[in-house]
Amino acid sequence: MSSYDIIIIGGGAAGMFAAAVLAEEASELDVLVLEKAAKPLGKVRISGGGRCNLTHACSDLREFLKSYPRGQRELIGPFHRFGPKETVEWFEAHGVPLVTLEDGCLFPQSDTSEDVIRALLSANPKIKTHSEVLRVTPSNNGFTIELKDGTLFHANKVLVATGGGEFIEGLGQPIEPCVPSLFTFNTPDKTLTSLSGIVVENVTLSAAGLKASGALLITHQGISGPAVLRLSSFGARKWAEANYQFEARINWLNNQNEEQVFEKLLAHREKSPQTKVTTWSPVGLPQRLWKMLTARAGIEEQKWVECSHKNLRRLAAQTCDYLLPVSGRNRHHEEFVTCGGISLKEIDFKTMESKRTPGLYFAGEVLDIDALTGGFNLQAAWTTGCLAARAMQQS
Ligand SMILES: Cc1cc2nc3c(=O)[nH]c(=O)nc-3n(C[C@H](O)[C@H](O)[C@H](O)COP(=O)(O)OP(=O)(O)OC[C@H]3O[C@@H](n4cnc5c(N)ncnc54)[C@H](O)[C@@H]3O)c2cc1C
Repeated sequence: MSSYDIIIIGGGAAGMFAAAVLAEEASELDVLVLEKAAKPLGKVRISGGGRCNLTHACSDLREFLKSYPRGQRELIGPFHRFGPKETVEWFEAHGVPLVTLEDGCLFPQSDTSEDVIRALLSANPKIKTHSEVLRVTPSNNGFTIELKDGTLFHANKVLVATGGGEFIEGLGQPIEPCVPSLFTFNTPDKTLTSLSGIVVENVTLSAAGLKASGALLITHQGISGPAVLRLSSFGARKWAEANYQFEARINWLNNQNEEQVFEKLLAHREKSPQTKVTTWSPVGLPQRLWKMLTARAGIEEQKWVECSHKNLRRLAAQTCDYLLPVSGRNRHHEEFVTCGGISLKEIDFKTMESKRTPGLYFAGEVLDIDALTGGFNLQAAWTTGCLAARAMQQS
């Protein structure tokens, strides 16, 4: 049986970052990465549409942490030790200059994830591909690792960075059930879906006491866009428990309230009494959406002068508190992460080591950590991979 100081299970973002740090900072250690696929870093390659949005601009870590519905508290310490700033420095020092887009997302200047992969592999970590791990069992002051084909390895320390997978169930760690995060909502509301293609720049979407703001796109099946992805993530467990059947509310004007909108409509009635209410939206909404809202308020045939206070209040209610039944979810094509995984309670976030099994470490999405879109998920993988690598170097 081959023996190693450290075996890393999973050659994804977290595992390969840990391998790179170990190869550079502790080259005297014998480290092996076991990867089940034919090549490491498969997800990094396709991330961000092949461009790899590897982190997000950060001027205030507290704000940055708000993008982690799971892991927000636990990542405070780790981000102080190796956060977005250190990530940018690391990649730039490894020949990957980065650019920050207007929305705060950071990409390689070259616009290709291949450069990120090249940097991660530059220290030549030892990788064994086509090697799916089935079992990890404590033995001889370390662990025995068994592959699907029966091959056995021994390692003094093991880092699990598989992103998920069934084999984590045998590790003796508590696990939070896995449910999807970052998805779009379906709706049976045909009046809304008939408007597919319309984008509203800044809405507030709420459900079950949770709120998210941002752009919203109406699709053939429901709603999509940043506000929807955020709400899907904030309430990932709630929506799963409800079997993705719940009521959401849309404020098409973000944080303007009904009273403010009512006042605007009244003022508009004074100004343009003879115009039809459907002609254009005095509150800046797309015309087709506005027409639908006036129809829901029962006044699409009227001129402004014909609208009573009650009519205008109904229209303000449709504008600020649109009731949307949600009847399922759809996978978001660009990014898909899982909520759930190894419970954070039994992990020491200074070292990423299990509190139950000394010598067993965890990093990346296999943990019950997940974030919004924008580079935050990869950041969690780099950070936890780095911390685990530094802790594993200590004897
Ligand atoms: C299409 C897509 C686009 C994305 N784009 C972005 C983005 O632009 N920015 C961002 O921040 N996040 C993005 N994400 C999310 C991000 O890619 C993940 O959060 C991140 O890759 C997690 O890293 P990880 O190392 O924990 O897991 P993974 O990257 O999933 O790596 C796990 C590795 O372990 C291997 N493995 C699994 N089980 C075993 C086993 N039993 N034995 C051996 N090996 C095993 C897998 O083959 C894999 O290579 C995207 C995700 C997807 C799917």
